[in-house]
Amino acid sequence: MSARPGHGSDAARIVVLGGGFGGVMATRQLERMHPGGRQLEITLVSRDNFFVLTPLLFEACSGTLELRHCAQPIRPALRRARFVEATVERVDPERRVVHAVAPDGATYELPYDQLVVALGAATNQSLIPGSRSALTFKTMADALVLRNHLIERFERADAATDPAVRHTSLTVVIVGGGLVGVELLGELTAFADDVLRYYPRIRRDEVRFHLFEAGARILPEVDRDLAVAATGVLRGRGADIRATTPVLAIEPGCVRLASETIDADTVVLAAGIVPNPAVAQIPVEHDRRGRIAVDATMRSLSHPDVWALGDCAAIPGPDGHPYPALAQHAVREARHVARNVAAVIERRMPAPFAFRALGTMASLGHSRAVAQVFGARITGFFAWWLRRTYYLFQMPRWDRRLRIVLDWTVALFFRPDITKVDLAVEQDQVRRNRAAGMSTPSLPGRG
Ligand SMILES: Cc1cc2nc3c(=O)[nH]c(=O)nc-3n(C[C@H](O)[C@H](O)[C@H](O)COP(=O)(O)OP(=O)(O)OC[C@H]3O[C@@H](n4cnc5c(N)ncnc54)[C@H](O)[C@@H]3O)c2cc1C
Repeated sequence: MSARPGHGSDAARIVVLGGGFGGVMATRQLERMHPGGRQLEITLVSRDNFFVLTPLLFEACSGTLELRHCAQPIRPALRRARFVEATVERVDPERRVVHAVAPDGATYELPYDQLVVALGAATNQSLIPGSRSALTFKTMADALVLRNHLIERFERADAATDPAVRHTSLTVVIVGGGLVGVELLGELTAFADDVLRYYPRIRRDEVRFHLFEAGARILPEVDRDLAVAATGVLRGRGADIRATTPVLAIEPGCVRLASETIDADTVVLAAGIVPNPAVAQIPVEHDRRGRIAVDATMRSLSHPDVWALGDCAAIPGPDGHPYPALAQHAVREARHVARNVAAVIERRMPAPFAFRALGTMASLGHSRAVAQVFGARITGFFAWWLRRTYYLFQMPRWDRRLRIVLDWTVALFFRPDITKVDLAVEQDQVRRNRAAGMSTPSLPGRG
């Protein structure tokens, strides 16, 4: 199917790939622009019809926040851009066409004059042998799967009498001590503290949390003192945190270190990211880490009508080093790339992007966080409040913000919900329907 709806002769066609921080913010900014009085015909293509505010994923996993409330449907966030829910399969830069496929198998050919790529990243599963047997924590489906898995382990341990089964069921290993690994550890330790009163046969000291980091220290994103403070808070909850401890292999039910093997039913891989695999399929110049190579204006080095931003792009900063893969950067890059695309449509020169990070904040659960903001170091409740407030206002619409505030208010008075949504039966049905050639809805899986 070829898609060129309402293509006016003068309209410049802009296709944006990816409905995350970069793609949605770029599209919203483009909607406001009329370069040289020209109409822009904007199409946003994304695999999911929602945008995930990833810093809220931790609370969505623990149940402090209703899962859907860490996301925003894309359609209501757009004013006039067209949205196509489809997976990008291929880009043909010579014909200037994007090939995408919808969940039901329908295919789309989307022609463009300017292409903006914001397809994000995936968990790096090539560093540690056996990584595919670990859980990941990147998408809303990942948060749901991990939540169900943990509750399931508590249920099994509560019923088990074999000490070995109880031990493995109640051991959680997080591989990677960056922002995501540490924030996840913080939220899960708080979750265990809060829900164990429902499992009277499990003692809190039977639930073991380990975090292994190959580098010299955890939280390299913040300064050393804050990393030490975060380590103290988490060790106070009984977590075993070890730096300079590379995981050598992950196997179903265990993690191998140089000197010991840890038996664990829950292993979450948070040891770095790689550009989304779809990015490798786009035949433009890439850097050696597989990101799209762009100049400081975010324009592809090899194809001037292709732009890239966010986690899938290597955008050189003023010091020549690429900007980090962070949401605060992706949002600013998005606004800037929209202005640059409009500039070239008007035959003006695009401007280089320059941004200095405002700071970094890491939540530790139980109303605690560490933050480094405008050079100041903040810890404890105030850091946690600041982080929550900041990300609340990153959510694009007020209706969603209100739902989040309501969830947070309820969570002040009640313990987290331990309802487990087990989709095994439904997934089986979907598989059988697919084998029989019937159309089926998609169910959450590992992203
Ligand atoms: C759990 C977690 C917590 C984080 N916390 C923070 C934080 O506190 N602060 C911070 O600054 N950063 C944080 N980050 C990093 C931040 O989320 C990313 O840097 C940011 O999302 C990058 O934006 P992006 O637009 O490049 O990619 P994304 O936001 O990942 O968006 C990519 C989009 O592309 C879509 N997509 C992927 N493949 C395809 C395809 N083949 N076809 C169609 N669509 C596709 C995806 O569905 C998604 O909508 C966190 C990340 C995670 C995982």
